Amino acid sequence: MEEQAHVQEDLATLSDLDEKSLLESLTRRFSHSHIYTYIGDILVAVNPFKQLPLYGKEVSEKYKFHEKSALPPHIFAVADRAYQSMLGRLATGPKNQCIVISGESGAGKTESTKLLLRQLMELCRANSQLEQQILQVNPLLEAFGNAQTVMNDNSSRFGKYIQLRFQNSSVKGAKINEYLLEKSRVVHQDEGERNFHIFYCMLAGISAKDKEMYGLLDPTQYRYLNGRFGHGDMVQHWSEKYNEVCNAMDMVGFEEQERVDMMTILAGILSLGNITFEPTENDALKVSETSKGWLKATAGQFGVQEEDLMRCLTCTMSVTRGESIHRFHNQQQAEDARDSIAKVVYGRVFGWIVSKINELLTHKLDTNVELSEIGILDIFGFENFAVNRFEQLCINLANEQLQYFFNHHIFLMEQNEYKEEGIQWETITFKDNKPILDLFLTKPIGILSLLDEQSAFPQATDGNFVDKLNSKFKANPHFEVVRSHSPLFTVVHYAGKVQYNASGFLEKNRDNIPASIRTLFINSVTPLLSVLFAATISRTGTLMPRKAKMVSFVDDNFNSTRKQSVGTQFKHSLAVLMEKMFAASPHFVRCIKPNSSKLPDQVDSKLIMDQAEWLTFMAMDLRYNGLLETIRIRREGFSWRPSFKEFAQRYNILLLKPDLPLDKESCMSILNTTELRGWKCGSSRLFFKYWHQDELARLLERLGKA
Ligand code: ATP
Ligand code: MG
Repeated sequence: MEEQAHVQEDLATLSDLDEKSLLESLTRRFSHSHIYTYIGDILVAVNPFKQLPLYGKEVSEKYKFHEKSALPPHIFAVADRAYQSMLGRLATGPKNQCIVISGESGAGKTESTKLLLRQLMELCRANSQLEQQILQVNPLLEAFGNAQTVMNDNSSRFGKYIQLRFQNSSVKGAKINEYLLEKSRVVHQDEGERNFHIFYCMLAGISAKDKEMYGLLDPTQYRYLNGRFGHGDMVQHWSEKYNEVCNAMDMVGFEEQERVDMMTILAGILSLGNITFEPTENDALKVSETSKGWLKATAGQFGVQEEDLMRCLTCTMSVTRGESIHRFHNQQQAEDARDSIAKVVYGRVFGWIVSKINELLTHKLDTNVELSEIGILDIFGFENFAVNRFEQLCINLANEQLQYFFNHHIFLMEQNEYKEEGIQWETITFKDNKPILDLFLTKPIGILSLLDEQSAFPQATDGNFVDKLNSKFKANPHFEVVRSHSPLFTVVHYAGKVQYNASGFLEKNRDNIPASIRTLFINSVTPLLSVLFAATISRTGTLMPRKAKMVSFVDDNFNSTRKQSVGTQFKHSLAVLMEKMFAASPHFVRCIKPNSSKLPDQVDSKLIMDQAEWLTFMAMDLRYNGLLETIRIRREGFSWRPSFKEFAQRYNILLLKPDLPLDKESCMSILNTTELRGWKCGSSRLFFKYWHQDELARLLERLGKA
């Protein structure tokens, strides 16, 4: 049994290739705690939901500069391959590397990211302050950007791309791009879910003295926390996390005062949530008597005047022909104003943390030397809920892009090159999702540009937007008109149909902060708040503070202060990401969730196999992501395609003739001295399967030892 599990370390070598055999192999391996399996050079990771002795010091050492086929599949092996490729030791394509981690919520993407980072830092060997700082970034981001959901107790509510920058073999800096923080969680959480971790950590962890300083009260009082907190072990756990966060902030280089400001702002958000409203005698609206205390507390915590805050909550001011007009809010509008202040403040704090981290971790970069990069993408998986909103649309667009990247890399790039080089090749058909991307991104009539067009009309409604979509795309095979009184439409994604509810699309896309709120915060006596609102958002969505005194971080992509819609910003940051990824050598990690109850596998494989749910999930997952097609092409494909020159230069040493001409004939002579089988020769380059590289590396090594 043990041996069999070992044999199938690489599913690309399975002789019968179908869904059943694939499932059996993964299941069998999983039941032996072999959670990692290769499909060619793609790593599949099945979440064990328990600690396995897989990541200790010895294991980490063993995987450093190892030969892929000599050790079982492992996430450390992916780190090693990326690192070695970056150093040019594996001679595969561009020096820059990107590791793309995909999978459902709770499948293990973030854990894999952390393990990759850790191993990459191990590979750099030195134990410098910078490496320690880089390792502290994750706990920090997790505290502010993760939350408990029904799918995952530590679910990332934002996407991130971490870029590690190296000079030769040592790390010199790091930069993070974040995507689409789920700000709505600050003001509302569904049943069984929680707010962002940091609120609980803060309430559980701070000293009585600080609690008083921040003006925090008993956690059960806060509406934004649903009046729920926790007991015993949980509070203990949060309290420890709080210490970790404070230490991480310290390590990364945040100043004491910045931390105090930040915590005070968070306390302000909690107080704000408790403000309620009631009508006055003359039909206007005021802060209800019972929540006057909360108004006062909030104003104190935000460092603003109570009256100014109240005005922002209860009325809208507009200036027409030099005259300012006050329009009183109704109950709903006042509540919306309150919640949108909370969301925008939290969003800005998060953005600020990220740009501050970037500033601290890139400031030592010497811009005159050439750096290479390893990027790790940990981004939300495809979502299809009972109700899908603007956020789901963006997330699913991102996944569509990633799928395109994957297809492009695995199928198109390979096949085109074989064709060009005149290599015999049986064309494999796959679902090309380019038409779906076009549906979203084409100008002037893609979904996003129509949304922008409608968002520009103050009078337009979400219904108008859907009408426009219906009339433009009714014949598009990836679009379906929904007959309903609600503004619904359906997109046929690569992973299946998703029905979107466009209520709130225009508002969310505009994401306008009323001038009165901006002014309110710019005038705050809390320096951090004033910086947050004096800032503009760059085209990549990164925060761009204008006050150079607090943060001097300047983004390469910053070029415009004109406010762009959320859709356009997101589209742009995806384009920047894709450009980076297409110019790098990719590595893919596919995480799989073995059950939806977040439970470790404490039973034997038969029992798990009997659970229909598990099987269907896996089967669905496999079909969703075209794993089967992927395996076929990986098995048959040529993953390494050096030019004659590149190959001869590198391996002429095998013939012990360093001055060999760098041409096809020399390559043939070199290859004839080896026992390599199955490679092909094109018109300008050679085509190797992924395992050929290991064999060549072995030959070089043997030569080195001789
Ligand atoms: P989301 O999209 O919601 O952020 P995710 O894919 O990032 O989900 P993780 O947070 O990485 O999922 O994993 C969920 C949980 O699964 C972890 O908190 C941990 O308990 C468990 N887990 C994941 N990977 C491993 C692993 N390699 N070993 C042990 N436990 C793991
Ligand atoms: Mg995650």
